[in-house]
Amino acid sequence: MNLIFETSVLGRGCSILPECDVPVPVLPKNFCRENAPRLPQLSENDISRHYTALARRTHGVNNGFYPLGSCTMKYNPKINEEMAAQAGFTAIHPLQPEHTVQGAMEVLYQAERALCEITGMDAMTFQPAAGAHGEFTGLLLIKAYHKHRGDLKRTKIIIPDSAHGTNPASATMAGFTVISIPSQEDGCVDLEKLKAAVGEDTAGLMLTNPNTVGLFDKNILEITKIVHDAGGLNYYDGANLNAVMGVSRPGDMGFDVVHLNLHKTFSTPHGGGGPGSGPVGCKSLLAPFLPGPVVKKQQEQYHFETPEHSIGRVKAFYGNFTVVVKALSYILTLGAEGIREAAQNAVLNANYMMKKLGDLYTMAYEERCMHEFVMSLEPLKKETGISAMDIAKGLLDNGIHPPTMYFPLIVHEALMVEPTETESKETLDEAIEVFRSLYQTAKTDPQALHDAPHHTPVRRLDEVGAARNPKLHYSF
Ligand SMILES: *Cc1c(COP(=O)(O)O)cnc(C)c1O
Repeated sequence: MNLIFETSVLGRGCSILPECDVPVPVLPKNFCRENAPRLPQLSENDISRHYTALARRTHGVNNGFYPLGSCTMKYNPKINEEMAAQAGFTAIHPLQPEHTVQGAMEVLYQAERALCEITGMDAMTFQPAAGAHGEFTGLLLIKAYHKHRGDLKRTKIIIPDSAHGTNPASATMAGFTVISIPSQEDGCVDLEKLKAAVGEDTAGLMLTNPNTVGLFDKNILEITKIVHDAGGLNYYDGANLNAVMGVSRPGDMGFDVVHLNLHKTFSTPHGGGGPGSGPVGCKSLLAPFLPGPVVKKQQEQYHFETPEHSIGRVKAFYGNFTVVVKALSYILTLGAEGIREAAQNAVLNANYMMKKLGDLYTMAYEERCMHEFVMSLEPLKKETGISAMDIAKGLLDNGIHPPTMYFPLIVHEALMVEPTETESKETLDEAIEVFRSLYQTAKTDPQALHDAPHHTPVRRLDEVGAARNPKLHYSF
């Protein structure tokens, strides 16, 4: 396929602009470019075909099943896009006077109330642009809290090894020392190791729940109590809220601060590079430290306020506002019962697939899973030489996006499958058949899988080369 610059023909175009009817400003010469920008020149037809061809070569939720674990690649109802695209939301400016944007402020206020209700928190900021950004912000709140109390020796954050990879990175960036504790055989936090790790230097704990192996930690109340008793605070990585929303709340489990991924759970497509939103909710003891401004309501009027001991801004203005509009639209269309039902179906779908594959594939953990399950292809690899990567490439030939591969690191040859609640039983059954037939192919014709994918626009790519020596420039 040609690049858009290769399709370009000098002098071709498709925009017919009306004659300028305002004075053309004369810019100082040193601000003007010397040569015209080298933009591709194409007809509207060329452009339309170019992007349609690109869209056909890629895989999205609109093409087929996308069970990429820990990413919640679910279908996002188009009505929420329509809501966010309204001119009343897109044609306003963040510096407009408050009385002219009361509707937008009401959206922030209502979304905060709804998400606080869902998480069991008291206050929230929408500034963080992603999950990891939310983690960083939440940890800064914990840091500010201890500092405000003059408790300066709390410099350590405890993170179980079943946490998402961003957790230790965020804690390090926030200036903490990370104490990693290994999980038990069953994938849950080892309480004895946790007790041994906490102390006067514990700033807090970061827990991903359900964790990266798809399990809800059965000792969650004891975990948060151990940390609280030691004087630390509890951080809940809520990026996997799709499994528990409307069913259980981090605030009721002893957590003081939580981030959500609106671009996973709450109806913003995810995986295209943004924009995202990783709001941070907290209990009232941390609210004075939240980034400002936050929206307050007084006598039916909304106004912005900066919390008393605010850690400052973590992003310009109010975060990615239209993502919040989509989340609120999603929550209001589903309602309390619908939110709960979505989570229950996400869990049901994952368990259905896990059960239907368990006789062939080795599950890393046998017990009931939450929204995703992890298989280990280590036994299959030993027997046939077929790796998690080979099965993933085989799935591509069948129109299925591969599950998350080689993550979590604590499972060898891992494939992490998250079907989500928006897939029908028919889709799940088809995918189960594909997984089962690939297993047979691994035994009867392993070479076919080593050579897969056969039917995609490109075959096996040099992934290491692409990461190490990316070609980011086009030489004209
Ligand atoms: C996706 C995810 C994150 C990070 O979110 P980003 O928006 O990609 O920064 C953090 N924790 C968990 C459990 C996740 O699944």
